[in-house]
Amino acid sequence: MGSRIEMKTPLVEMDGDEMTRVIWGKVKEILIEPHVDLYTEYYDLSLGERERTRDAVTAEAAGAIKRYGVGVKCATITPNAERVKEYDLTRMWKSPNGTIRAILDGTVFRAPILAKGIAPYIPTWKKPITVARHAYGDIYKNVEFDAPEGSKAELVLTGPDGEESRALIHGFDGMAGVIQGVHNTDKSIRSFARACMSFALDTKQELWFATKDTISKTYDRRFREIFEAVYAEEYEEKFRAAGISFFYTLIDDAVARVIRSEGGFIWACKNYDGDVMSDMIATAYGSLAMMTSVLVSPEGFYEYEAAHGTVQKHYYKYKKGEPTSTNSVATIFAWSGALRKRGELDRIPRLIDFADKLEAATVQTIEGGIMTGDLYTISNLNIKNKVDTETFLLEAGARLSGMV
Ligand code: NAP
Ligand code: MG
Repeated sequence: MGSRIEMKTPLVEMDGDEMTRVIWGKVKEILIEPHVDLYTEYYDLSLGERERTRDAVTAEAAGAIKRYGVGVKCATITPNAERVKEYDLTRMWKSPNGTIRAILDGTVFRAPILAKGIAPYIPTWKKPITVARHAYGDIYKNVEFDAPEGSKAELVLTGPDGEESRALIHGFDGMAGVIQGVHNTDKSIRSFARACMSFALDTKQELWFATKDTISKTYDRRFREIFEAVYAEEYEEKFRAAGISFFYTLIDDAVARVIRSEGGFIWACKNYDGDVMSDMIATAYGSLAMMTSVLVSPEGFYEYEAAHGTVQKHYYKYKKGEPTSTNSVATIFAWSGALRKRGELDRIPRLIDFADKLEAATVQTIEGGIMTGDLYTISNLNIKNKVDTETFLLEAGARLSGMV
């Protein structure tokens, strides 16, 4: 083993809650710190600290990502009524991911980690499918009403000159119903298109995008037009040079093609499609605990995390002193992704190489038959061992030490 790898610019480190916080510390101690002279700017986003700082710490962490360019985040609790009691909160603080996403205005890319022995439910899938979810607008910023019997719903747009455009949505004659209003902005759709196209270039993968523009001739049509314009004006030549392509189709056709594909592409989805399809893709690849997530902002800031939550049920067992078999792979890949990006931006080849080896050592541990309980139940290896959280990390650490 050579000297520890030096870093030039800090990585924004955002610690979190429950079982993933336990894993966070161990990943650093067992896998990273023996090899990297870790240089981070640390933000504690655990619920207690968010309460103590009145959630200012979350915005400060997002600001730091804007300053340094790369962050790595542990899963955090999004409080609900039970958590308000459990943690004696003065307020139901917002989701940190939502806050950070709003500040960075990013797109979230989720990709599965593949390992031999963990077979996707779809046998043709040989490579990862990355889902890019537009994280603004549509039903997530909707306005909706109950429409009582006898009411009439109209869409009214007041122009900059005060002029009104009006259209009847529905007359609820003799029956009650519901209505909803949704919106998006050209700016947000354009940022989304750019983020997807930059990420496709970055990772040298094809880009797919789909809407329902045959039915939604203005709303969904706008998404298609903006994607096609951004592609033609800014990316077509770069894509050609990189040997990748952009493909537009209808959302139902896309779903059918995804299922019979080999994988190995980025699937850009409108907000709702991405919400639904990313869970389908995660499950179909085997386990939510094998899904990575990276938020990419249009200015080129990156935030890496695991796609899963804080694994609360395992944490309560851990607190009682019972052994836990929580999968740390997605958290490890959040760190490797962030370290690789830091290495690329700061031109530190050893750091990039370390990130590659950290991922290889982790996957090879699973392929060698050592895995946590979630994978043990779905692995088709003949010889396999279920190990606890820490043993997995120690095994991966031993492999890694043999590589670096
Ligand atoms: P979760 O933490 O993702 O866990 C749900 C279940 O999935 C677990 O009980 C476990 O199943 C399985 N699982 C998830 N990750 C696993 C791992 N690494 N290893 C093994 N099994 C894993 O979701 P949740 O229980 O709904 O949410 C817990 C907390 O996380 C909530 O407070 C929520 O707000 C927060 N959350 C945060 C984020 C984020 O920060 N990005 C995302 C989602 C949720 P078994 O119990 O069957 O083993
Ligand atoms: Mg979802």
